[in-house]
Amino acid sequence: MATANVTVVRNGTVWTGGPKPRLLANSDVVIADGRIAAIEPSYRGRADLEIDAGGALVAPGLINAHVHPGASHRARGVAEDLSVTEGAAFYHGVGRLLALGLDELRPDEFAALMEWDAAELLLGGATTIIAEMIVPVEAGLHTIWLNLIERLGFRGQLGLTYPNKLGAIGRVQDGKIVTGDAGDVMGALEAGLRLHDTHDGTLGGRLRIHLSPHGPDTVPEEVLRATKRHCAERGIHAHLHLAQHLSECETVMARTGKSPVRYLHDIGFLGPDIMATHVTHVDDADIALLAETGTHVVHCSYRKAKEGITSPFWEFLEKGVNVAIATDSFSHDLILDLKLACLLGKIRSGSVGHPTAHQALVCATHGAARALGRPDLGSIEPGARGDLMVVALDTPFIAPVFDPIRAMVYHATARDIRHTLVDGQPVVRDGKVVGIDLDALRPKVQAACNRLWSLASDRNILPAGVTYPASCCG
Ligand SMILES: [Zn+2]
Repeated sequence: MATANVTVVRNGTVWTGGPKPRLLANSDVVIADGRIAAIEPSYRGRADLEIDAGGALVAPGLINAHVHPGASHRARGVAEDLSVTEGAAFYHGVGRLLALGLDELRPDEFAALMEWDAAELLLGGATTIIAEMIVPVEAGLHTIWLNLIERLGFRGQLGLTYPNKLGAIGRVQDGKIVTGDAGDVMGALEAGLRLHDTHDGTLGGRLRIHLSPHGPDTVPEEVLRATKRHCAERGIHAHLHLAQHLSECETVMARTGKSPVRYLHDIGFLGPDIMATHVTHVDDADIALLAETGTHVVHCSYRKAKEGITSPFWEFLEKGVNVAIATDSFSHDLILDLKLACLLGKIRSGSVGHPTAHQALVCATHGAARALGRPDLGSIEPGARGDLMVVALDTPFIAPVFDPIRAMVYHATARDIRHTLVDGQPVVRDGKVVGIDLDALRPKVQAACNRLWSLASDRNILPAGVTYPASCCG
């Protein structure tokens, strides 16, 4: 019989996560053949890999529940400080720039951006990345992401978004939101299904495929109904943007006379197989419908704060809605997003007592695992997958440590993440992504973006008031 491959994470403060979190001082976590085998004070058996977690918190690996790989960096530094057209989201303002990137970047440039994105996501604490890709499937750009999941060893959950044309989700032109041709949206859903049928469960079970309708304003009702049917048939979930901006709410209201949440409820779309991202513009009746149907919400504080607004967070927790946490398209430091979920949540709730660091961390681990229907993720308990993070708590910014969870959420940053493991194998080791040479990659990413921004400047499609090269006092 083959012997198990054993990894031991030694002498950390272990927060087990899961439905009943425990905090264990000076403990060893033993992972055998990819699963948590034991948590004990002093493991004496054999080990193929030993990781020192002295002075550190050992927690379940974070689940980044909503990102768009390869998209962020095209608008990095462009989309910040940008006035958002009334009713719009930031991406409407840089829609033409994002689309130019898809049209003009060469495959090697796009691959460099996507690898850089993966590096940031992994250094930001994610061990599972839930990705929605708005790219035409025939361009094959999603295969770059699939190759990164395979090579870098993280856990991937991927959906091909439909409609799959950037123009169809809207952009600002002459001060107004305009939308382009959505193309064959049902056909794009079918492409997502084909990807599911060929790839779901591959890469040793690390890759899962879900369905990714963009939103209730951009996807025809018959396609939403078909999505729901296919989810039930295959036992998978669908992931969409919901109540993201006022323009979406107005479009759905004009078409149906209902709020986006009420509309999805009334067509039978909501339920425990649905993850809805942002869910910003909702009232108490909408929140009650989400709670009643067991729909999961994905909360993105940093993204929303950059648009000068906040989404409900504590309001959902208080009403029993399950919440996951995500970075969306901006900084992928998930610890920063946990911090902002708490700090901005306190401003919204009007109470210093809510939401708490413990609540936010539960959302980014067990909450997201629940949304995915994965009781084997988001916890360090025997039988769970060996996905975890080791975060140093012994620096002057963080120590002395009274409560390790508050210490991490309020005082640490992604730079304090020493190691992450997936199935017991290192994905980040000593603060570096295993398998990516950042020094070699950095100039390629900068050159690709410089070329894109120059082109955008020449064609006069940078947002109003933005110049390239950037001015010193913009
Ligand atoms: Zn998004």
